[in-house]
Amino acid sequence: MDQSVLVINCGSSSIKFALYPNANASEPSIKALAERLGEPSPVISIKGDITEHISLPAGSAHKEALSGFLQTCESHLEHLAGIGHRVVHGGETFSESTLLNADTISQLHQVSDLAPLHNPVNLLGIELCQQLRPELPNVAVFDTAFHQTMDESAYLYAVPYDWYENAGVRRYGFHGTSYRYVSAEAARLLNRAPNELNMIIAHMGNGCSACAVANGRSVDTTMGLTPLEGMVMGSRSGDIDPGMIDYMVHHQGKTLEQVSSDLNRNSGLKGLSGLSNDMRTLLQAEADGDSNAKRAVDVFCFRAARQLAALSASLPSLDAVVFTGGIGEHSNLVRQRILSAWRSAAFKLDNDLNNANGDAAGRITAAGSPLAMVVATDEERMIAQDTYQLVNHD
Ligand code: ADP
Repeated sequence: MDQSVLVINCGSSSIKFALYPNANASEPSIKALAERLGEPSPVISIKGDITEHISLPAGSAHKEALSGFLQTCESHLEHLAGIGHRVVHGGETFSESTLLNADTISQLHQVSDLAPLHNPVNLLGIELCQQLRPELPNVAVFDTAFHQTMDESAYLYAVPYDWYENAGVRRYGFHGTSYRYVSAEAARLLNRAPNELNMIIAHMGNGCSACAVANGRSVDTTMGLTPLEGMVMGSRSGDIDPGMIDYMVHHQGKTLEQVSSDLNRNSGLKGLSGLSNDMRTLLQAEADGDSNAKRAVDVFCFRAARQLAALSASLPSLDAVVFTGGIGEHSNLVRQRILSAWRSAAFKLDNDLNNANGDAAGRITAAGSPLAMVVATDEERMIAQDTYQLVNHD
C-alpha cells in the first residue's frame, strides 16, 4: 500500500496543505489553502481528489483550520506516513531537514528569535499536528539549511565580531529548499551530476534572491540575516545603505518602526512604482505607457544583473544561469532585461525559446551563448521527498 505524506506551510494568517499520495508523485492529490485565519470570515478551500469550500466560524484560527482539513480529508489520510513542515529559519543548528522529537523541537524554539514573524507560527503548526495526530512523525524542512555550506567569508558581516558570537548576526540566506530542488532539476535536465555543476539560480517571486551553487553546494546567496537583504523584491527594498535608517529617524522624523515597516512593506517594486508589488501588473502598466511602472522594473532588472554578476565571482566557472519563481519562470521580458543589463557576460537569448519559457530542457539561450535556463521550482515536492526519506530511514 502506498504511503502518503502531508506537507504543511503555516503562515501568520494562512495554512497551505499539499497531500502527496506516494513517494514518486510529482503532483499532490489534494491541495488546500486555509486563509483569513483569526479574522471575521476564515475559509478553507480544498482542491483535487476532494473539492470543498468550508467557511469556518468567525475568529477560527490555525487549530480549527488544521482539524477542519484533517476531518474533511480523513478518508484520504488513512495511509499517512508523516507530515513535512516548512520552517523558515534553522539558524546554525539545522543544516538539513530534521525528524522532530522533544530535543529537536527545543532546539527549534532556541533559534526562533532569528525569525520572530515566521518561526513561531511554523512551530505552532508542528505542535498542533502533534496534538491532533500524535501517532505521526513530523519533519522540519528549513529555508536556510541549504546555505549552511557557505564559507565564513561569505556569511560574516563586517560588523563587530561579537554581534555574530553573541547574537548570531550573520548571513543565513533563504529559499534554500527551492535552490536544492532547482539545482537537482537543472542537473537532471542537463544530464549532468549535480555535484559537477556550477550555476547561479535566481529565485524571483514576491520575495527574490539568488544563489551561487558550486558543485551542488551553496557558496553565496543574496539574502542575509533576514529576507530583506539582496535583490529588489515585491515590497522589500533589498540592499540599502544602512546609513539611511539613521537619516530617516534622526533627520526626517520617522520612527524606527515606520522605517522598518517601509523597508519591508512599502519598498521594492511597490515603493518605486507607487502602483503595485506585482510584476505582471507593472509590466502591463509599463506597456500602457506608465513611466512609474517602467522605473520600478528598470531598477529591479539593473540591480538583479548586478547581484548575479557579483555571485559569479565565487564560482570557478559558470555552467548555467537558472531562472525560477513566478517572475523567473514566466516573464520573458524580465529575463531578457536582466541578461542584457549584465553586459560583461554576453548572453545571447534565443527569442523563441525565451518567449516559450524554455525548451524541453529549459534552455532559453542561442547556441554559442553562455547558457541560461528556466526551471520551475517545487518547494512542496522537495519537502515531501525529505519527509519520505526521514520517516522511512530514521
Ligand atoms: P511567491 O513568492 O509568493 O511564491 P510567486 O513565485 O508566485 O510568489 O511569484 C509572484 C510574482 O510572479 C508576482 O510578481 C507575479 O506578478 C509574477 N508573475 C507571475 N506570472 C507572471 C508573468 N506571466 N509575467 C510576469 N510576472 C509574473
